[in-house]
Amino acid sequence: MNRGRLFVISGPSGAGKGTICGKLLVDEHIKISTSMTTRQPRQGEVDGEDYFFVSQEEFRKIIDERGFLEYAEVYGNFYGTPKQEVMDMMRDDFDVILEIDIQGALQIKEAYPEAIFIFILPPSMSELRKRITGRGSETEESLNRRLNEAMKEISYVDKYDYCVVNADLDAAVDRVMAIIIAEHSRVSEDVRTIIEWYKEEI
Ligand code: 5GP
Repeated sequence: MNRGRLFVISGPSGAGKGTICGKLLVDEHIKISTSMTTRQPRQGEVDGEDYFFVSQEEFRKIIDERGFLEYAEVYGNFYGTPKQEVMDMMRDDFDVILEIDIQGALQIKEAYPEAIFIFILPPSMSELRKRITGRGSETEESLNRRLNEAMKEISYVDKYDYCVVNADLDAAVDRVMAIIIAEHSRVSEDVRTIIEWYKEEI
């Protein structure tokens, strides 16, 4: 009954999904997949922790080797989820979180319909603008591009199983954790095993 589940967390850039995911790691049964990207590292980002930063050539090679569970082009850069790493973590019974964009989430939904899809919403668009500006890594052009993209992404919220508004970080983390816990109580084929145990005990 405790087998690892695959959770997909999406939401517009600046909604706070990265921070929420980081806080989920206090639970030792949860792992976050480290994506690969062709974008340049931002200040303070560490290769192998925030992302594996690779060249376009390396990324293409992994596409050709079918090494990604999903991949997508986001804001002109490529991002992908390394397949083997996720499979290994799930085999070891960890809950695995993919923090990926909507295009990637739709690919996962196609390939792994049993995954659980969670969308993180910002409390408002003005708050989202403030959060993205606060990062200090955006030009006016890229800020507007991200806000337009955010609106497009938000329109896909109905493809997800759950949505969580991140107005208060701790409350949002609690809600995501509650979803993870609830998913472990979902009635599935595994429940048959428990019924067999009960029968044996009579
Ligand atoms: P950022 O450049 O701000 O770190 O990420 C930009 C967007 O790419 C975010 O929406 C993030 O969730 C998404 N992203 C990060 N890793 C992956 C991945 O492996 N696959 C996909 N499809 N999207 C990703």
